[in-house]
Amino acid sequence: MAKKGKKKDSKKDKESKYAYKKKTAWEIFTKAKIKSAFEFCEDYKFFLNSAKTEREAIQKINEIAKSNKKNIIINREKEAAIIVTGKKPISSGLRIVISHIDCPRLDLKQIPLYEDTSSNVALFETHYYGGIKKYQWVIIPLSLHGIVIKKDGKKVEFALGEDDSDPIFSVPDLLPHLAYKVQAVKKLDDAITGESLDVTVGSQPVKNEVSEKIKEGILEKLHKDYGITEEDFISAELEAVPAFKARDMGFDRSLIGAYGQDDRACAYTCLKAILDLKKPEYTAIALFVDKEEIGSEGNTTAQVSTFLRTIIKKLDPKVDPDDVMLKSKVVSADVNAAVTPNYVEVFELKNASTLGCGVVMSKFTGHGGKYAANDASAEYVSEIRTLLNKEKIPWQAAELGRVDTGGGGTVAKYFSRLGMEVIDLGPPVMSMHSPYEVTCKVDIYSSYLAYKAFLMK
Ligand code: MN
Ligand code: MN
Repeated sequence: MAKKGKKKDSKKDKESKYAYKKKTAWEIFTKAKIKSAFEFCEDYKFFLNSAKTEREAIQKINEIAKSNKKNIIINREKEAAIIVTGKKPISSGLRIVISHIDCPRLDLKQIPLYEDTSSNVALFETHYYGGIKKYQWVIIPLSLHGIVIKKDGKKVEFALGEDDSDPIFSVPDLLPHLAYKVQAVKKLDDAITGESLDVTVGSQPVKNEVSEKIKEGILEKLHKDYGITEEDFISAELEAVPAFKARDMGFDRSLIGAYGQDDRACAYTCLKAILDLKKPEYTAIALFVDKEEIGSEGNTTAQVSTFLRTIIKKLDPKVDPDDVMLKSKVVSADVNAAVTPNYVEVFELKNASTLGCGVVMSKFTGHGGKYAANDASAEYVSEIRTLLNKEKIPWQAAELGRVDTGGGGTVAKYFSRLGMEVIDLGPPVMSMHSPYEVTCKVDIYSSYLAYKAFLMK
């Protein structure tokens, strides 16, 4: 019989006084705070379900701001600013949180409708918007949202596929039996092409003597229900988005699965944060911008500061907006990529965000050697870190993936260019840019608390 080994020391190693150890929000939050986080997310899910496009998000934000008697300014139905006047004059600078309200999706082309005679269905041509993995967008139920401006200039609003009794739409996919050559042996990125992401919209032909009977059936129906003709699509913005509802995920209901959490998780938490402000030190602004997912190009975006300049001028006509911006502090409220269990190799785990560890602070974004990044100063990072620690708000520091593995940007750089201090702060998201993104309830709540603390001081 072998000699019995020495009993292993069962005592845990003492925690170092000097080492940094990331704590989870579950450890930091009290029981009551965790309960509040879960309650907070009930309305969050409702918001996600009722704001599936940039226009709908602005509409919803406007509604909520107005019912809370807040000052809101809207730009072209796609950008908004909520303002709460502070104790200090405008000339001493502002506190701004910026989130974006656009999400990856399938936009309809300007002449979308056609009939495919070989398959006997009618379809809409689409042109995808933002960074998507195309294979994720076939087969899933899609709803159709947006507006059509008719020949007479009247606007028709669309939101079809959200109610359980509504019809939905879908991009067809091939059965596995026949997919080998055209899909399976190809690279994932090439297997589904952008041009093939057309959405099935019907199959019933009309009885009259026209050449395209199924297409005619769809046009008849559209005219009957909405009063639109085919040319009206040219002056339309219609978006096919996942018809899924936001749902609790997991036995413990700690997670949320939903479309559009990048970046409506931040839009909603910024909104809730500014609604809570009464009289902050500095004048606070929550800015909601569009077109972030395609590089912030356009007149409703972060790249165009005209909107912010105008707001500053309106708040105090005597100030120089450039001077005010130079003295202002900004949180770019955008999501970070949470470590994904089946692909941990793309993350450098010490500097990656994980679900359940609170709001993520990213000193810099960009790709390669920090190209196209906003790199916040150590002084500003210190200020935010001190604030979060003081308020006992769970937070973590992270960048997006391993060096040279990829990367990404936010609106941060467009505002730092204007002379403002800017840092990225937002919840981690798993399966980002997919039709069903995943967040953790305590992180959503941590983000809300962080934005509120920032705007208040
Ligand atoms: Mn984003
Ligand atoms: Mn994004």
